[in-house]
Amino acid sequence: MTVLILGGTAEARALARELVEDGLAVLSSLAGRVSAPALPVGEVRIGGFGGAEGLQRFLEQQQIDAVVDATHPFAAEISRNAATATRAAGLPLLRLARPGWGDHPDAGRWTWVADAQAAVLATGAQRPFLTTGRQTLEAFLPWAERRVLVRVVERPTITLPVTWQVICSRGPYRYQSERQLMLDHGCDVLVTKDSGGSYTRAKLDAAGDLDLPVVVISRPPVPPGVPTVPTVAAVSRWLAAFVA
Ligand code: NAP
Repeated sequence: MTVLILGGTAEARALARELVEDGLAVLSSLAGRVSAPALPVGEVRIGGFGGAEGLQRFLEQQQIDAVVDATHPFAAEISRNAATATRAAGLPLLRLARPGWGDHPDAGRWTWVADAQAAVLATGAQRPFLTTGRQTLEAFLPWAERRVLVRVVERPTITLPVTWQVICSRGPYRYQSERQLMLDHGCDVLVTKDSGGSYTRAKLDAAGDLDLPVVVISRPPVPPGVPTVPTVAAVSRWLAAFVA
């Protein structure tokens, strides 16, 4: 049985490790967005497929038996393409997505918005800490007059206002350093997206303790009809039904 993992997340790497240990043939796919990606064990290919049709062709050429979409919860386009391509190819598809932060004790006090455009309008605070990802930055350009602290993994490709300060780094982050960062920069709001997981959760605890308002962009919906599980173990159980 050959499993295609659509990856680019820590969960996808953990899944590849587990399935290789279980003796399955695993092919992981990465988008190729970051310059030095952490590579999963097993076979890896890098780069887009060319839309849903390209992915369908790939599934057939590589004789894939099942697909696990373990991409980031906000990678909506590849998830849509995976749903379309697997349906057309008659293959099973499972979404692996870490739980969001809706269970955080402060979640009821946050302002939840649908997308980056709505986040721009959701706060008038002048010193935002912006952690919604490089691809969303363009939407926040109306904040050119504000003193925005931006944290991204890879250096942004667009030109940002001179009033903005950019930190390029990758988690995990700890509570103390997150709290200190927000204090040092005098941040007056945290703007983030519901990525979930523990790597970047500490900023939410720190913002809560500092009494900062928090704006959270909600996750895009999973394509209709695609089952979703939160853990690698649940993916293994799902796959076991096909191997048996
Ligand atoms: P996206 O908007 O859903 O996808 C855009 C296009 O990138 C897709 O149509 C596809 O190109 C290609 N692509 C995306 N993921 C791919 C994969 N795993 N393998 C091959 N091609 C892929 O996705 P995104 O938000 O740009 O995210 C790209 C990658 O970065 C994902 O693998 C995701 O897990 C990771 N990531 C994303 C975020 C985030 O916040 N969005 C955060 C951390 C990591 P074609 O149409 O040509 O096939």
